[in-house]
Formats: sequence, C-alpha cells, structure tokens
Amino acid sequence: MSDVFSDLVGVDDAVAIMRGTVKNPVQAYLLTGSSGSPLIDGARRLAAALVCAEAGCGRCDDCRQALAGIHADITEFEREGSNWRVDDIHEMETLTRRYPLGRRRVNVIPRIDLTSLASIPALLKVLEEPPSRSSFILTTESFPAHLATVRSRSFEIRLPALTLEAIAQSLEREGVPSPTARLAAENSGGDISRARLLAKDSGLEARIAIWRSVPERLTPRLGTARELSTQILAAVETVLEPKKAQHKAQWAQLEETYSQAGMKRPPGKKDFDDKAKRELKALTTTELEFGLATLARVYRENFLGHLEAEAASKAKRATEILALIDEANEVLSTNVNTDLLLTTLFARIART
Ligand SMILES: [Zn+2]
Repeated sequence: MSDVFSDLVGVDDAVAIMRGTVKNPVQAYLLTGSSGSPLIDGARRLAAALVCAEAGCGRCDDCRQALAGIHADITEFEREGSNWRVDDIHEMETLTRRYPLGRRRVNVIPRIDLTSLASIPALLKVLEEPPSRSSFILTTESFPAHLATVRSRSFEIRLPALTLEAIAQSLEREGVPSPTARLAAENSGGDISRARLLAKDSGLEARIAIWRSVPERLTPRLGTARELSTQILAAVETVLEPKKAQHKAQWAQLEETYSQAGMKRPPGKKDFDDKAKRELKALTTTELEFGLATLARVYRENFLGHLEAEAASKAKRATEILALIDEANEVLSTNVNTDLLLTTLFARIART
C-alpha cells in the first residue's frame, strides 16, 4: 500500500495505529517518543491523512499541500522562545477556533513537554471545545507531571526512536544513493528531517573535513583561530541553500494555489518570511552543534590513544579541551555572535 505513511519507516506499529484511526478521527492525538523519534514527521503525515478524502492517499491536492506544509486547514504552531508561554497559547486560540474549509481542521502543537506549569490552564482551554471537524496533534518527548490532564484527554501513539540504519534505508528508498544516505544518517543525530536535508547537501563531506582538521591547523596565533572560524561559517552558509530553495518552492506553490482559486496573492508574506528566517537560524545552530560534536570526537579519539601510552599530560589536555567544547555548545543555544564564539573557542584550545 502506498500512502502518506509509506515513507515513515522504522515505526510500523505507530503507522498501523495511525492508518486505523484516520477514518474515525479523535479530537486530540498525542504522539510520544524520545529525541530521535520521528514525532514531527509523524504529526505532518497524520495531519495529511486527516484532511485527505481517502485517508492519506498521497496523490491528491490535499495530501500534496499538507506534506508541503501549505494546506489551508493545517496549522503547525511555533514557539517564540524555548517554552510555550501563555501569550503563545493565547495566540493559538483564534486559529484553532476556525472552521475547516475542507474536510477537517488540524492543529499541530509540537513539544508540549515545553509548556510551563503556568501555561497549562490556557492550553487546556484551547484543547477544550474546538469546532466540530477539528483535531489536535500534540507531540511530546517526556511527561512532566503537570501534563497529566492533557495526556488523559488524548489518544496516545508511541513512536520509537529511529536507528541510523532505518534512517539510511528510508533515504535510499527515496532515491538517495547509498553512500550519501549513510553519511547523511550518521550526521543526522537520529533526526530524519535533518538527514533528508543533508542528503541534498553536497558540501557535507567537505564540512566534516574542515572540522576534523581544526586540531592540526590551530596555532597560538589569534589569526589562525579567526581564519578557521570564517572558513567554518562560510561552509555552514552552504547548508542553508537547500532550505532556501525549499522556502522559495513553498511560496511559489502557495501563489499557484491562490491564483488557481482566482485570488491575487496569498496573505501573510511577512509571517512566511519570518518563519523562514527562524528556520535558517535554527539550522545554523544545529549545524554548529554537529560541527562541535565532530571536533569533540577528534579530541576524544586522541584522548583514548593517549590513555594507553604514558602521555598522561596529553590526555589531561584533551579532557580540558572537551570541557571547552561543551561550554561553547551550551552558549550556542543563546543568541550569540557565532563568529566570536568560534574564534574564542579555537584561541582557547590553542592555548590549552
Ligand atoms: Zn490524499
């Protein structure tokens, strides 16, 4: 059977449950799994199946628009900050109260484990009494105690984390050559959306090589730290290209849909651009996190090599460097100047 769920590999039980439920949809679904579970991919496919007249055929306009992220009856909500704040949830209310234009309205709220205790009453209010023919799809990676009420009102579907093998296989099925699929899977951190993007990213190998070359290229000269930082940030820019192309295609498709419906121009260009910008920023951060992880791996390999030899001082140096990389990784998630962060990190490593 080929449908919107066919490419969701490695989570067969969850797929069977989702296929079974779309003909008699419930009001709230809760997709649960650890980091590395295809929660958002699962949520988007379930949303597509809920708006399709044939339970997610994968071929009709509803399915295609849903999977491209531009279906008028599906809203995937985003947080402004690291947590769902009361304001974020109040903003949801208007949209979730809308009646569907087509078969069903679907509201996707990712990572409700990031809802603070103070925001729970507002969230419950949103989940209560939506218009008929509406569904919520919530995702969570954990169950803080204050989510018990939300959990008890939802139909829970568990999605196990994907193995790197399953991710590589999935990419191969989508037509990615095997060596590329493997490299993309290994660098995806278990996140299939990231793996898909990396599979289209011709600069991946070169970027890994730059990060791996850092230890041997570093000198105590501050200039070297700066050069390395510039080179890495320029390489990271190339990662953004496939994503930028994807944004352009999404907007073009949206324009086409509106012009076919006899309307001049889709609304919300500014929101669309803002969302695109946030996605690019998040992608840069993820990419640097993976770069730092690659660098840490090189130092860890060195460290293991020195454990056996008697060069205890070198092992100590590697441990100190790993701590510096950890520290940089923590700062990365704040709104930091990445060039300054990398230059400082490299200069500190060189002095260690
Ligand atoms: Zn369909």
